[in-house]
Amino acid sequence: MLGELSASLVHELNQPLAAILSNAQAAQRFISRDQPDLAEVRSILDDIVANDRRAGQVIQRLRALFRKDRSQQREVDVKQIVLEVLQLIRNDLLNRGIGVEAELDDDLPVATGDSVQLQQVLLNLTMNACEAMEGSGVREPIRARARRKDTQTIEVSISDSGPGVSEEQLGSIFLPFMTTKPKGMGLGLAVSRSIIEAHGGRLWVLSTPGQGATFGFDLPIAAAPAAP
Ligand code: ADP
Repeated sequence: MLGELSASLVHELNQPLAAILSNAQAAQRFISRDQPDLAEVRSILDDIVANDRRAGQVIQRLRALFRKDRSQQREVDVKQIVLEVLQLIRNDLLNRGIGVEAELDDDLPVATGDSVQLQQVLLNLTMNACEAMEGSGVREPIRARARRKDTQTIEVSISDSGPGVSEEQLGSIFLPFMTTKPKGMGLGLAVSRSIIEAHGGRLWVLSTPGQGATFGFDLPIAAAPAAP
């Protein structure tokens, strides 16, 4: 249990730390120019602050777990979560030359859950999409979608135009420590799946090898409050 927890902590903290580093390096490049673009530096600093806060939240949540507090089950605005994640990785995507197109329904109902955990899942899926496309040299934008699937379910998905997932890989990609990346930990999808299942949802993948992959999750819509 402790081993799994610390592996997942390493994984969750790696992401904001890597983002902070690449943002700080970008800021260094910007200010060493003859005429530094201060507006750009300011926005990079905002991103550093946001990523640092995220790392803080991950640690706080872990502390709560050790104190055996309940995870933060609140009403969550899924559209807001998608937008926050896209903002968090904005610079990373710019550096990699990858665009994003978002299709987010305006009248999405709320779900119930832990917004930091749901952010973590979306970060994993989006970073995986970027890494898949980097290897293949394709530069189509990533598509982020959030829609009401039926009366009880919200569906969120991230599509890429990378190499996709082969039939034989499909059986194992959600297992812990399954990775095809030289520096991968193989924990992203395993952790994401347990988070989504703890929310009463389902993590899924659709892929036509050679034509990209769509990873997504279904979340139950929050029950309407009981009439007074
Ligand atoms: P990691 O990213 O550390 O490898 P993950 O659990 O997030 O760990 O992913 C496991 C494996 O699933 C990856 O190594 C990769 O082979 C495959 N995978 C994940 N996302 C995609 C994607 N969007 N396209 C193709 N393969 C993917």
